[in-house]
Amino acid sequence: MNITENISLRLFNTFGIDVSAHYFSSFSTQEELAELLTMTPAAPFILGGGSNILFTRDIDGLVLKNEIPGIDLIHEDDEYLYVRSGAGENWHAFVLYCLQRGWSGVENLSLIPGNVGAAPMQNIGAYGVEIKDVFHELEAYDMNEQKVYTFTLNDCEFGYRESVFKRKYRDRFVILNVTFRLRKQPMFHTSYGAIREELDKMRVRTLSINAISQAVINIRSSKLPDPKQIGNAGSFFKNPTISNERFLSLQAIFPTIVGYPAGGSVKLAAGWLIEQCGWKGFRRGDAGCHARQALVLVNYGNATGREIYELSEDILVSVEKKFGVLLEREVNIL
Ligand SMILES: Cc1cc2nc3c(=O)[nH]c(=O)nc-3n(C[C@H](O)[C@H](O)[C@H](O)COP(=O)(O)OP(=O)(O)OC[C@H]3O[C@@H](n4cnc5c(N)ncnc54)[C@H](O)[C@@H]3O)c2cc1C
Repeated sequence: MNITENISLRLFNTFGIDVSAHYFSSFSTQEELAELLTMTPAAPFILGGGSNILFTRDIDGLVLKNEIPGIDLIHEDDEYLYVRSGAGENWHAFVLYCLQRGWSGVENLSLIPGNVGAAPMQNIGAYGVEIKDVFHELEAYDMNEQKVYTFTLNDCEFGYRESVFKRKYRDRFVILNVTFRLRKQPMFHTSYGAIREELDKMRVRTLSINAISQAVINIRSSKLPDPKQIGNAGSFFKNPTISNERFLSLQAIFPTIVGYPAGGSVKLAAGWLIEQCGWKGFRRGDAGCHARQALVLVNYGNATGREIYELSEDILVSVEKKFGVLLEREVNIL
């Protein structure tokens, strides 16, 4: 447990933003975390894989990288397997671990970057499945009370890219481990996006969790920029939700507007709104809006977090001006 001083965080965030942390350390157990917390008066910044953060400044205090390992089957009944993963496990490696054992539930979430511990933070989701659908409970360390609490599904108050950890309890809890409730008999989700099309292309005759995972991997690899090649944090904005009435009045002006029913409201495709404002493929210095995915902001090399943030602000203002819809950032800004 070494504390390093004045370290660049460039390799610790998928945007590749070059800011520095005054103090930096990692921890692999709850005890190490507790000890590190005695060394800092202010709440540290907890880092996972750095794939949902935009650093806009140097970090004066302590950055703690969660590296708690371990995946264990802790209980099973006729239908379900209860699998606990340390927060520091890589998310996709966890998905592969489950696939290899025939445990079903997380296959649609293949290839999402980041670590297991951050997955409940924003209730990660893709291709019709969210963490909340496979979540059982998690343990988190309360930095105020120096105690471990268990959070059930209800306690987490999961919503679309939301949880209590992102809002109400921000900077208070460190997620130590997450327990998932996975199925022995698979329940396939293939109706979302281009999964069926991709399965046809792959000539899959018998559906399986491995085939779905591979289809998702193929689609994601063809659609999303790889952060190893070009800095990004996936979707920068959330898809905004508006009322049906409001959607109909927008549709009267913009007949091709893209929206999906969402429990009595309509979820708009933020990428479409951004594209209509002319941002797709836009580049200012090294900050840009991806040429194939308008929802993804990118760092072509040496953009600062501030430059990416300013671009996001300009996008937000123009979308509001044209459509009267206020976009919300999905990425955590620091
Ligand atoms: C190419 C690309 C594609 C993506 N696709 C998707 C997608 O399809 N769906 C989706 O939902 N997301 C997607 N994302 C976003 C991102 O992968 C997820 O949000 C992921 O869960 C972030 O994990 P992380 O470990 O990198 O978190 P970090 O970026 O390190 O942290 C994110 C936030 O969580 C906090 N945090 C991290 N770990 C802990 C912990 N153990 N305890 C408490 N707080 C913690 C951090 O302080 C920070 O506020 C994508 C990102 C990229 C780059």
